[in-house]
Amino acid sequence: MKYNRLGRSGLKVSELSLGSWVTFGTQVDTGAAAEAMAVAYDAGVNFFDNAEVYAGGESERIMGEAFRRLGWDRESFVVSSKFFWGITQGVNTKNTLNRKYLISAVNASLDRFGLDYLDLIFCHRSDPETPIEETVFTMHELVASHKALYWGTSEWNAEEIRAAYEIAERHHLHKPVMEQPQYNMFYRERVEVEYRRLYEDYGMGLTTWSPLASGLLSGKYIDGVPEGSRASLPGYEWLRASLTDPEKNRKVRELKTVADSLDCTLSQLAIAWCTKNPNVSTVITGASSPQQVRENMVAAEVATRLDDTFMTKIDHILGSN
Ligand code: NDP
Repeated sequence: MKYNRLGRSGLKVSELSLGSWVTFGTQVDTGAAAEAMAVAYDAGVNFFDNAEVYAGGESERIMGEAFRRLGWDRESFVVSSKFFWGITQGVNTKNTLNRKYLISAVNASLDRFGLDYLDLIFCHRSDPETPIEETVFTMHELVASHKALYWGTSEWNAEEIRAAYEIAERHHLHKPVMEQPQYNMFYRERVEVEYRRLYEDYGMGLTTWSPLASGLLSGKYIDGVPEGSRASLPGYEWLRASLTDPEKNRKVRELKTVADSLDCTLSQLAIAWCTKNPNVSTVITGASSPQQVRENMVAAEVATRLDDTFMTKIDHILGSN
């Protein structure tokens, strides 16, 4: 497993990490979560991603309990949470990045985890109503008070990220260090084009999400929706059309020829592909079982064999050149 600096910060994160969206608290109980985390950790993963909103707070509770069961040194892992949607009803607690919400949401998250501090905190989306100054000052204070060590954004547009950096710079505040965007073979524009200037200008790091496009790139949807898969879950109907899209599944079938020549699975190929972008600090993988984690972690080794010839073949299949 390789370790990359998170953007220009000194923090090193494993090139593959593990997140808990959909899975912890919905498909995976505490025992299976701890097992999945242990498989990842043993493979070299040091970063675990979470969010306040995942399973209404249950995902943070499960991960916190898993950390205790596993008994790891706090110094040996990096844990994140993300804030914006809120989990309590109220005009100041939903879809906001105001100061009142952020301070109480981070405190409540620490309680659920049973931790003294989070390593990374993210503004889970941008908030068009709260002035960016208010959010930047609050994130700075959360870092200055050691409730978190680094802060960043998730799915902000380039202009919003630029504004946040510049406010922080002007007022000598802790700057955002990382962004968490979607990035996979079917979703490239933001990371490869829109953010292009931000890597050099601000040293922005990336913790990217959905390397398998929610499972599509594993090939499991080629012949329909398998029982128990994400697309079959109640509440995730909105994903079904994209996961069963015939054109995308045709490309996945073609990608299988590349995976076969690399002697790896489609999932390993798709995850390894994400690590090849030098601006990606860590690829957050997701898994509904420890077995999937075991398979996916091999992607770190596959990445060492995924050379330019294979990358060109993949681009050709995806239709990017
Ligand atoms: P993926 O795109 O990799 O999808 C993971 C899902 O694909 C698994 O839960 C599983 O679903 C299926 N899968 C995984 N491995 C395999 C395999 N080897 N074979 C077959 N199926 C497999 O990642 P996620 O969408 O889960 O995102 C990863 C993480 O990124 C999240 O946990 C979260 O931490 C973060 N994230 C952040 C977001 C943000 O807005 N900042 C948004 C979304 C995610 P199943 O078995 O149920 O079909």
